[in-house]
Amino acid sequence: MSETAAFSFSTVPGIVSEPGAALRLGQLVAERFPAIRRVLVVTDPGFLRTGLVDGPRASLECHGMQVAIYSDVAADPPEPVVLAAAEFARRHDAELVIGLGGGSSMDVAKLAAVLAGTKQSLAAMYGIGNVTGARLPLVQVPTTAGTGSEVTNIAIVTTGATTKMGVVAPQLYADLAVLDASLTAGLPSIVTAATGIDAMVHAIEAYTSRHKKNPLSDMLARQALFLLSANIVKACENGQDLAARQAMLLGACLAGQAFSNAPVAAVHALAYPIGGIFHVAHGLSNSLVLPHVLRFNMQAAAGHYADLAGIVVPHVSGSEDARAQALIVAMQQIAKITGIETTLQQVGIAERDLDRLADEAMLQTRLLGNNPRELTREDARAIYAAAL
Ligand SMILES: [Zn+2]
Repeated sequence: MSETAAFSFSTVPGIVSEPGAALRLGQLVAERFPAIRRVLVVTDPGFLRTGLVDGPRASLECHGMQVAIYSDVAADPPEPVVLAAAEFARRHDAELVIGLGGGSSMDVAKLAAVLAGTKQSLAAMYGIGNVTGARLPLVQVPTTAGTGSEVTNIAIVTTGATTKMGVVAPQLYADLAVLDASLTAGLPSIVTAATGIDAMVHAIEAYTSRHKKNPLSDMLARQALFLLSANIVKACENGQDLAARQAMLLGACLAGQAFSNAPVAAVHALAYPIGGIFHVAHGLSNSLVLPHVLRFNMQAAAGHYADLAGIVVPHVSGSEDARAQALIVAMQQIAKITGIETTLQQVGIAERDLDRLADEAMLQTRLLGNNPRELTREDARAIYAAAL
């Protein structure tokens, strides 16, 4: 698209990127919301067990705030979890909500802040732009470097056995995102790899997004890929490398800002059924189909992929096609070096499952519409077959 084409761009008003910042969370909240006395922290039981909630909690209390902790968030949060978190917020008369966790905790925090602030039902909020009221003040503190949920305006809820619904609304942008690598230092390398590749996919898909790609999302996607590709292997090899961890968190955050405005496409559309049916983690699902979707997209997006290869692959040269291929190979190399699964069979998927996967992928029309190349059911099935 032309650099002077009309576009709009939104993001959060405040970001603090600083190792150790969670230990002065109370100060960061009090500076912005001096009147707040009752705070709800939304997290998951696994993160609560790490003891890493204690520091931020003490900091909030030190600044005169009462802290209630809702720690029942589950991965791919089901509707009852969201409703329970909102009820918990109301019961404690919370004035501000803090999401402290991965994408699931941050998504639940977004919806708890909206539901506790309005009388609208969750069912009425699904879809794009359907939230009518204002939310409680919202702060997001990610503990994985992947989803970028701290800076996006979307929350995903599991509404049935394998079905998911999304709430997309400007109210879901937080007031503040706090990026503190010390919260991610304990993550196993497999999780670091899968979530980091997910963030790289956000950047790649934003950069090739069909309708809403714009100069700001491009700039963010490029810088995100630079930070993520330079640090993902380091962060996997030495989880205590705080500089690499901080760079990963910032990269995931920038990629989140990019795809919140220039949305993701077929990689995510084909990854969702893998997660929904086979309970494979989101980052890994994306990584499994990524090279095959990029190869499919080549004829429409080789120029963009070649641009990105210049960031991910040092000294890349050759024709546009050769450089674009180098990006795909580099992404496969990262998956290989970090030791995560690279084929669908390794996560328990067989030939007989491919039709169902293809059928479900085609339901992701919102995402498929962003893909640089039109994708049919036959194409989807062929991509899954290549990934088997
Ligand atoms: Zn993703």
